[in-house]
Amino acid sequence: IGRHGGQRTTAGFEYNGVSFDDSSVNIFAGLCAVDSLESVDSMMAALARCGIQTTRMGAYKPRTNPYEFQGLGAKCLPWVFESAGKHGIKVVAMEVTNPRHIDEINDALKQAGNPTGVMLQVGTRNAQNFELLKSIGQQRAFPVLFKRGMGITLEESLNACEYVASEGNPKIVFCLRGVKTHLGDPHRNMVDFAHVPVVRRLTRMPVCVDPSHAIGRAEAPPDGLPDIFHAIGQGLIAGASMVLVDFHPHPEIALCDGPQALRLEQLGALQRYTNIVRGAY
Ligand code: PEP
Repeated sequence: IGRHGGQRTTAGFEYNGVSFDDSSVNIFAGLCAVDSLESVDSMMAALARCGIQTTRMGAYKPRTNPYEFQGLGAKCLPWVFESAGKHGIKVVAMEVTNPRHIDEINDALKQAGNPTGVMLQVGTRNAQNFELLKSIGQQRAFPVLFKRGMGITLEESLNACEYVASEGNPKIVFCLRGVKTHLGDPHRNMVDFAHVPVVRRLTRMPVCVDPSHAIGRAEAPPDGLPDIFHAIGQGLIAGASMVLVDFHPHPEIALCDGPQALRLEQLGALQRYTNIVRGAY
């Protein structure tokens, strides 16, 4: 992951025509969990209207509660990849929780005629699942979005990335998503975006922020922007070059993390906000 005595030497990589480096910001807006073909297609169409070519789509969901929706798994992959192809989406970030999922994704992509690229997401709960990390490192087809462990040190999360890189896959984006504390509300996690410059200083990995899982609520003050927007601002000012944001066409009926999902009508505002903040420094 490029730790060279505190010097950021080279940063980033390119994948499927998208640059993951400090030169621009990639907005990965999409569904936390795929629940229907209609949701996928509405999301992708909204992205295409904004000219955004990257998204997040959850098929395999690592839920804390076994009785909650676990994701549609391989069944929804054709919906995702065909819709991505139709709407010109170039990279889909998708969490995998088991090496078997990588094969399923590969197969589904082939079946759909390779219409898009995939970035394999390692979720916070699997940040130290070393066998999964090694499998993801051994495959070279897909870059990796690694989400920091919510209850481990930053150093431990960086070492987890070394498990991926040392197996042969250095295309890793490091994602901050908040850390767990005993303090509870108002936000789901304690926002850790002050670590962005630390990761940029210590490694060559591009840094992503996930304000949705950090904040956990899509609410806004009566006269202001959602807390999620402010967290994005913090992350971008700190030097993040990618944001991962949950959206849903109908957050009130989303099967996973509905309270933190922004509405599709907010996508344009998020894009404008991102450009303004990014342009301001
Ligand atoms: C997600 O991004 O869908 C997710 C579950 O995030 P995290 O692993 O950060 O909780």
